[in-house]
Amino acid sequence: MTSAENRCSLCGEPAVVRLAEPERRLCAAHFIEDAGARVFAAVKHECMISSGDRVAVGLSGGKDSTALLLLLHPILPALGASLIAVTIDEGIAGYREETLKAAESLTDELGVEHAIVTFTDLFGDDLDRLLVGREPQGCTVCGVLRRRALVEGVKRVGATKLATGHNLDDEAQSVLMNVLRGDLPRLLQDTSAGYPGHFVPRIKPLAVLSEKEIVTYLLLRSYFRDLPECPYAGTALRSEVRSMLAGLEHRHPGTMLRLMRFRDGVRRSACPAEPAKALSTCRICGELASGEVCQVCRLLGRDGK
Ligand SMILES: [Zn+2]
Ligand SMILES: [Zn+2]
Repeated sequence: MTSAENRCSLCGEPAVVRLAEPERRLCAAHFIEDAGARVFAAVKHECMISSGDRVAVGLSGGKDSTALLLLLHPILPALGASLIAVTIDEGIAGYREETLKAAESLTDELGVEHAIVTFTDLFGDDLDRLLVGREPQGCTVCGVLRRRALVEGVKRVGATKLATGHNLDDEAQSVLMNVLRGDLPRLLQDTSAGYPGHFVPRIKPLAVLSEKEIVTYLLLRSYFRDLPECPYAGTALRSEVRSMLAGLEHRHPGTMLRLMRFRDGVRRSACPAEPAKALSTCRICGELASGEVCQVCRLLGRDGK
């Protein structure tokens, strides 16, 4: 039996989730509707997508990007925009094969155009071989190369926007990490504008949903798959921040949303005194770099060091 308190605030059916801010309980159908409406509202409110846009979804095949594609797919026609999924195949043995299969079956089912870009094609070798001798830095190296691969993939398919599957937890963790590192410029940095000639504007439509909500959404829509974790995943600070925030969110629901509001407030009130530091371009590949040679070329030893 479902107690009176554990019923959907909208229809009285048994509730499956309890949400904070505003506090409400929802049944499966109303939760699915609510999640879609929140993503749509964020896309509209923050003007993430315009008519005529060709939106590339970075589709790893994991839970966040699967949810992102499922949620964006039905709303793009109403916005006059089109969709293409871009998957980066790093060549991580025992991990990528399965997620790649998941990505392919999802795009087939939804009838979404799908492009696959491989590390071997872009960097001359797969990640496993590029990492030999520096496995401890695996996640950092992979992160740098993946970001470049996605930028390259987006250029190749002629997209005008890049949508990534960052969720509320990822974003709140980043805010707190920047605070803990005392990195104000990073806290203020906003990549949503893009950089003409180098990368298209990046949007994060899923940042209004927590990881728990995303898992619930996928389970309720029967799209949840238990996929292997990336063997190179995780940095030390992020995993500490993740467990700390999870505990705070549990005891004080709404903590992550409030952290995001704090970041947005700081961004709005920051003096735009200093114009963004002019970035130079890499003398080897021509991409943006903070020095003479970009991070990717340094990691790949293209500078001869
Ligand atoms: Zn309901
Ligand atoms: Zn370079």
